[in-house]
Amino acid sequence: MKIMDKVLIFVILSCSILLGFSFWHIHTNIAPEYVQVFVQGKLVQQFSLDQNGEWDIETESAQYNHLMIIQKSAKITKANCSNQNCVHQKAIYYVGETLVCLPHQILIKITGSKKASTPDSISN
Ligand SMILES: [Zn+2]
Repeated sequence: MKIMDKVLIFVILSCSILLGFSFWHIHTNIAPEYVQVFVQGKLVQQFSLDQNGEWDIETESAQYNHLMIIQKSAKITKANCSNQNCVHQKAIYYVGETLVCLPHQILIKITGSKKASTPDSISN
């Protein structure tokens, strides 16, 4: 258990550092476009942020996380993991932001592509 605790702390610290770097990118010209789902470090699914909907992300052993994409944000609304930390995370909107479920080894990340700076062209 002690080794696992150290691994968890390392993972959490690594994520925090990555998140810190990610915030530097938020204010650049990268428009959020996709929600990528990684299970055990492998990209398994990708959704468009324009596509409102709800999906169950299932891992090998009947574990699930319920992902909701609405109004260009992503959130985990339900999961059967032990600590429920992922369910309590805030919705993510920006490129580089992540949702993490440590018990299920799921990472959900917003990605995008660089665009020319056109702040006035945003329309509904
Ligand atoms: Zn979880």
